[in-house]
Amino acid sequence: IDIRKATKIFKTKNNTIQAVDDVNLHIREGEIFGVIGYSGAGKSTLIRMLNGLEQPSSGEVVIGEDVISSMTRSNLLRKRQKVSMIFQHFNLLWSRTVADNISFPLEIAGVPKKERARRVAELVELVGLTGREDNYPSQLSGGQKQRVGIARALSNRPEVLLCDEATSALDPETTDEVLDLLVKIRDEMDLTIVLITHEMHVIRKICDRAAVMENGRVVETGPVIKLFQNP
Ligand code: ADP
Ligand code: ADP
Repeated sequence: IDIRKATKIFKTKNNTIQAVDDVNLHIREGEIFGVIGYSGAGKSTLIRMLNGLEQPSSGEVVIGEDVISSMTRSNLLRKRQKVSMIFQHFNLLWSRTVADNISFPLEIAGVPKKERARRVAELVELVGLTGREDNYPSQLSGGQKQRVGIARALSNRPEVLLCDEATSALDPETTDEVLDLLVKIRDEMDLTIVLITHEMHVIRKICDRAAVMENGRVVETGPVIKLFQNP
């Protein structure tokens, strides 16, 4: 993943906000890369550029061979299957079971029913929700809900997983369980993970490298052991 001189300006009625300001980042295949910063630093806007939910006002976003920042809408929709996302509040469909939530992106992609069932069974086992297939999200704990979110995000076999404050709504113990799961799927599935967080613990526990954002700018970047070692 290459982010080159990316800037994002939001114009509202009364003011102009530079949410992302001339950011350059290179994220390596297979790494877990963290972006940390206070609320309002520009983390969400930056990560949303990686799946085309936001287009940069200037600069370029490249994933593999694809210049995400200049793609047409239909190509972007196809590419988005290769770049999945999980969220702080899980964004599950509340009227659908665990199995149907995980299967949903596959239905949209037109995957045949038998193949959907096969993949759902695989994913349920991978994320440790065996026996919960027919539960509704309201019957699950926060950690279990995020496991459904992760399984759903993996259903289309993405190359990149984006995590937007994915453990911020969870207690410390559950946070660690979900972080362990992210490391496991990175190791087993040839995945690159980009996560944003305001919690140092998350960065220290699973990230290989990280960037620190302040006021739309990346003010530091490097391996986590170097970035946060005490002087
Ligand atoms: P973070 O994820 O680090 O909390 P955000 O990327 O959400 O930061 O926001 C960065 C800045 O951009 C904030 O000042 C926010 O209010 C502003 N911003 C984000 N999205 C929009 C939008 N759609 N319209 C106007 N301003 C926005
Ligand atoms: P349907 O599949 O019938 O369109 P949903 O499953 O999306 O409906 O939503 C069912 C109910 O759950 C709605 O009242 C909706 O507002 C609520 N809901 C959906 N998503 C969320 C969410 N992420 N957080 C809280 N409530 C939600």
